[in-house]
Amino acid sequence: MVTIGVLALQGAFIEHINHLQKAAKSAKSGSLVAGVQIKAVQVRTVEQLKSVDALILPGGESTSISLIAERTGLLVPLQEFVRIKRKPVWGTCAGLILLSDQASKATKGGQKLVGGLHVRCQRNHFGRQTESFSCDLALPFIDPNDPDDRFSAMFIRAPIIDRLLDSDTTDNFEALSLSDENVVYAPKLEADSDDRTLVEVICRLPKTLGSEADDIVAVRQGQIFGTSFHPELTSDVRLHLWWMEECVLPYLE
Ligand code: GLN
Repeated sequence: MVTIGVLALQGAFIEHINHLQKAAKSAKSGSLVAGVQIKAVQVRTVEQLKSVDALILPGGESTSISLIAERTGLLVPLQEFVRIKRKPVWGTCAGLILLSDQASKATKGGQKLVGGLHVRCQRNHFGRQTESFSCDLALPFIDPNDPDDRFSAMFIRAPIIDRLLDSDTTDNFEALSLSDENVVYAPKLEADSDDRTLVEVICRLPKTLGSEADDIVAVRQGQIFGTSFHPELTSDVRLHLWWMEECVLPYLE
């Protein structure tokens, strides 16, 4: 049995639990997930974190999640889970912000980061709640030759990844002009020095979206996956299945 936790401090955690269960049931023979018993559980305590093989950090509000994690003694265990134990993790939206090594600061004070993903994240890139939108994304399991094969993703006060810290990619850096004092950094851990896994861009916004086109909205660094959008708020469970097949099961001992 594989136990997948969803951090349940704030935000859209129930939806992820439902999606994990549905995705596991949808696995066809030939899929790595077929025949594996997947148990999806909520994680609120250090004990619960210890009992899971992989973890989703959901969307919500990253400052709130970070504050609650700190107050409940979960922040350091989360950093260890991701960066020392190197267990599979997926951050969606606020969860992506928390997993980033660098992120733009909240207006009042700086949220504390879990870190591990070598990217810089720009919070609320598209503006306020009313600027939320959905669009089709060319995710790895989509057949580009089939116009009916679509994955609609929801962006709600979403962040984007504006810099891959281990390469020269500086997407939109000039446009965003984030100065160093507006950025928060995850604390350095000794284990970071032997982590050589490179960040891979999994998906960008489609060109049809005009000025926002090409922004990076999904990245993967080995067993760490991050998406700007909410895949748990639609009925499509394919990204959850893909994540388990590609980023979770191959990394379990
Ligand atoms: N804007 C939120 C933040 O900065 C993230 C929004 C979301 O998770 N949908 O934390």
